[in-house]
Amino acid sequence: MAFQTFDDEPNETAGAHTAPATQPAKKPNGAAANPVNPTEDFEFGDENYKSSSKLPRIKPEKGQVSRFFLVAGMKPKAKETHYIDGKGSFICLGEGCPACASGNQKRTRIVVLAVRYTNADPKTGKLGQNKPQYEVGWVLLSRANYSQMLDVLEEESTPYTVDWKLAHANRAFGYEFAVAARDAAYIKVGDQAVIAELVKEYADGEDLSKKLGKRSNAMELRTAMTNGGGLDESTLADLADLDN
Ligand SMILES: [Zn+2]
Repeated sequence: MAFQTFDDEPNETAGAHTAPATQPAKKPNGAAANPVNPTEDFEFGDENYKSSSKLPRIKPEKGQVSRFFLVAGMKPKAKETHYIDGKGSFICLGEGCPACASGNQKRTRIVVLAVRYTNADPKTGKLGQNKPQYEVGWVLLSRANYSQMLDVLEEESTPYTVDWKLAHANRAFGYEFAVAARDAAYIKVGDQAVIAELVKEYADGEDLSKKLGKRSNAMELRTAMTNGGGLDESTLADLADLDN
């Protein structure tokens, strides 16, 4: 069985042509930077041919936790979206939206840039005496998740000063957010400069923005709805999470 997750979006480039043609392809390894290669030959190490999914979603397996912090200065992003199985999330077109018209429920999709501690204990989220190791990623939030994050913060904390713990309960549905440490470990060990360097390429918010959903026109959205398939368990778990 293929475990299709919420963000496994097969047509990564669907709707890409809706981007203005004048937009500069400023990143060498992004999907948008379609290399012009008249000879077909290229050198190993050419960034143009690397997979574009370099920004992983922070999402623990069932029964596990992920520890992360939010990157200071990076604002969360939100859009109303429609989920079409096998096709991914599409930004709601608003007035005249064919997905709305067909009864596909709109969901608020909130995405935020985060840095995961790759060497935190997957059961407890604890780092112990380990020097933190980092991986930049993103976190998907429902309105309920977002509310929960604000609720569990203490008065003197901000979403950017704590370490977060995201737990995937050992049941079909449900992600839980909690504070793993009141003072983020990366700040305690003085790694601010390390983090600033790591997140530099995401500072423009462009890669994060793509995680909101595909930008399509009405015809593309209709086609996606016609060709979409059935839902599997992991998809349902994520949808239930967004429904909370
Ligand atoms: Zn819609």
